Amino acid sequence: MTKCPVCSQVFQKGDYESLAKHLASSNDKNDPFHVSWLKDYIPMPNYNNPDFVVKLKEFYKLPEGGLKTWIASKFVQRFFSEKPHPFIEAMQRPKKAIFIGFGVEYYFFLKQKVKSLAYVIAKTDKDDVQKLEARIIMPNILYNYEENKSEMVLLIKMLEGLGISRESLANSMPLPPTIYSLKIWNSISESDHWLECMSAINTMELFTCPQLKDYGAKIPFFSPSVLDNEWIPDSVKHYLKFISDPANEHSMDAIDIISNYAKELNMTEEVQSAFLRSLDATERHLQARLTRAKQYESK
Ligand SMILES: [Zn+2]
Repeated sequence: MTKCPVCSQVFQKGDYESLAKHLASSNDKNDPFHVSWLKDYIPMPNYNNPDFVVKLKEFYKLPEGGLKTWIASKFVQRFFSEKPHPFIEAMQRPKKAIFIGFGVEYYFFLKQKVKSLAYVIAKTDKDDVQKLEARIIMPNILYNYEENKSEMVLLIKMLEGLGISRESLANSMPLPPTIYSLKIWNSISESDHWLECMSAINTMELFTCPQLKDYGAKIPFFSPSVLDNEWIPDSVKHYLKFISDPANEHSMDAIDIISNYAKELNMTEEVQSAFLRSLDATERHLQARLTRAKQYESK
């Protein structure tokens, strides 16, 4: 079945005509979520024009490289295109505040990721899926502060190096756009199929995937010159080195698994919808990182 990428309303498999009607009528009713999704992904002056269905089908059509290429390309278009996302742009010439904004908001995402991937493990019997997810979440649950072997530890230490204590991090709350995004990720994890949950969560590790440039990324997640910058605390450099080490990043392995099971279980459209809902949630979460950074800048 096809699902609306904004509100998850369900349509018959391949029924893009009904999905187009639903999106157009939500746009006519000025529903802010549908309006902004259309504006961002399929900008058109009039959604009641018959061309809209054609464009919608094109948007979902799998390219030669299949679902893997479709996912990676959509991710790149959203965040790493000629006009990159303002957060990615800010990471090219970062200031102290941007690492704080990034770290504090992302801390909540990382906790949600552990929870969501645990749902995947619980919902499937597939060994390859369970092994991959366990490899990602175990170091972030069973960590030891003395060892720099987990993203969670290095993230917390990065923030400590920037003056944010463990206590104040534990007592902080995510900003509203991150809260909104966490709700989306949690709802997909709780209510949807494990493959949809993987499609929403594992794909968002693509930010630091070294192969992203093969899919058209114009810039990396952060400028490599950051690592030579003298004023940047070592704790930040350790964290950035850790997340950009290919050994600690599993997005392409996950997307290979997702693509195989999407074929086997005939769930390509569900995978596309879950990925798109998560892409949108991530965009909001990146805005929260910028807002948080601005709050620290003005202190
Ligand atoms: Zn909808």
